[in-house]
Amino acid sequence: NHLFDVIIVGGGPIGLACGVEAQKNGLDYLILEKGALTNSIYNYPVNMTFFSTSDRLEMAGIPFMSIGNKPTRTEALEYYRRIYFHFKLKVNLYEAVQTLEKEEEHFKITTSKAVYHTRKIVLATGFYDLPNLMNVPGEELPKVMHYYKEPWPFVAQKVLVVGGANSAVDAALECWRKGAEVSMVLLGDEVDENVKYWVRPDIMNRIKEGSIKAFTRSKVKEIREHEVVISTPDGEVIIENDFVLAMTGYKPNFALLDQLGVELSLDEKRQPCYDQANQESNVPGVYLAGVVCGGLNTREFFIENSIVHAESIMKDIKGNLS
Ligand code: FAD
Repeated sequence: NHLFDVIIVGGGPIGLACGVEAQKNGLDYLILEKGALTNSIYNYPVNMTFFSTSDRLEMAGIPFMSIGNKPTRTEALEYYRRIYFHFKLKVNLYEAVQTLEKEEEHFKITTSKAVYHTRKIVLATGFYDLPNLMNVPGEELPKVMHYYKEPWPFVAQKVLVVGGANSAVDAALECWRKGAEVSMVLLGDEVDENVKYWVRPDIMNRIKEGSIKAFTRSKVKEIREHEVVISTPDGEVIIENDFVLAMTGYKPNFALLDQLGVELSLDEKRQPCYDQANQESNVPGVYLAGVVCGGLNTREFFIENSIVHAESIMKDIKGNLS
């Protein structure tokens, strides 16, 4: 029965960075990823451009080349693919972690394919697997989507985009440019302040000129097969509709943290408890890395500012085990 020094759950940018650091520290490690390599990025909208410049996403001193200042999704996928092969990282792909258990000194991890034993666990599971639901009637209809890929299915269709953050704005503009009739439902008076600074004027002007109809200070009340009911400050409005793109954000898989007893803050952020010096959670031997650390505040951490987690975690583990 092999005992690993550390198993990293999640093969996103930060999980891979943890693998590189584990390797540097001579640790016996394994990364378990439930989907493709950097699965979240693979599932991003096809034409997405990062808000970070490529140099800020670099890891392990490996240059990240991109044609523009800000890399595209494809360039990022290529970068992480090269990192994987360059470092010969040990990653098991298409292997989902199902249960995590503490067993005396060690941990037991059961996946869709096998059982593993490890001294330490790093949870680098991100937040892109569970969408925030609107919890309205009709949300389960097949025309309602929580992930947007590309505009082609929506040409000449009546599309309602829910939300006012980057994902919503990118989807609304792209669909409108391909000839969809786009409306937006915004909770506030306008799109979010932190929409990418070079995109914000574009959406504001499209709304101002009436090309994209925005229902401000509004909420979706009900989704029907051919229409949507919206609660607005002026009362209920019913619009014709073919597709709903619910870009309402995503949340970490708290159930996975809960299996090991990682506690969450009691405020609305639901931030997991961990020591900022070494990223170790309230459960000794269980570390948190990457955007999962922000809890429901999914904007607190991103690749740029969480890549450092990898180094502090692996240093700590190395110190602990030697
Ligand atoms: P993720 O990349 O989400 O990786 C987590 C991995 O864990 C996933 O591959 C997932 O499949 C896997 N996983 C989850 N559960 C399990 C399980 N049970 N078993 C096995 N594997 C599991 N950040 C920036 O710094 N700059 C940007 O420009 C930027 N743009 C973004 C654009 C969009 C549309 C989104 C959604 C996010 C963006 N971010 C950006 C945030 C960035 O994507 C995240 O910071 C980054 O993906 C986080 O890396 P991570 O490794 O923490 O998590």
